[in-house]
Amino acid sequence: MSFYATPVARLIEEFEKLPGIGHKTAQRLAFHVLDLPADKVEGLANAIKEAKFKTKYCSICSNLTDVDPCSVCSGATRDRSVICVVEDSRDVVAMEKTREFKGLYHVLHGAISPMEGIGPEDIKIKELLARVGEGNIREVIIATNPNIEGEATAMYISKLLKPLGIKTTRIAHGIPVGGDIEYADEVTLAKSLEGRREL
Ligand SMILES: [Zn+2]
Repeated sequence: MSFYATPVARLIEEFEKLPGIGHKTAQRLAFHVLDLPADKVEGLANAIKEAKFKTKYCSICSNLTDVDPCSVCSGATRDRSVICVVEDSRDVVAMEKTREFKGLYHVLHGAISPMEGIGPEDIKIKELLARVGEGNIREVIIATNPNIEGEATAMYISKLLKPLGIKTTRIAHGIPVGGDIEYADEVTLAKSLEGRREL
């Protein structure tokens, strides 16, 4: 039995379903919402609905967007001969923040994971091949995560692209900036050796 009025109990329950939110935090958030003026609550509820219902996947790169094609795909200054493949829309944001990459993206929406039953057909690999097949692509940079799933996905994609004569590269993995070689794990250190470049 809940000690709260039913709508309040329901709000706490919904907050508790969010990642990283425990019961105590859910209670605090619910009471914070109840303390807000009506128009602020309206604003919050609308922001949640609009984020969900006014965004879709870009028909070219599958990135989350409110306009189709997305701002990157329709950008006048982007290099259309390079595609950077990432797992998630959040990775696009991370790459854009570097201001180093001027090409286009392709968002896979996941990575191949036999353990979780996610195969190549469950992520947007077919769409990537179709884009590459249209021609004009000089290089595909695979920027999937440096874990088992990300590596398996990178290998799978590179095997498909190599016969097409497309230059396929993988982002380097290694010691983080500000890190200490002494404290790096063996895999990271081995990867950074492998990805070394000439000075
Ligand atoms: Zn796009």
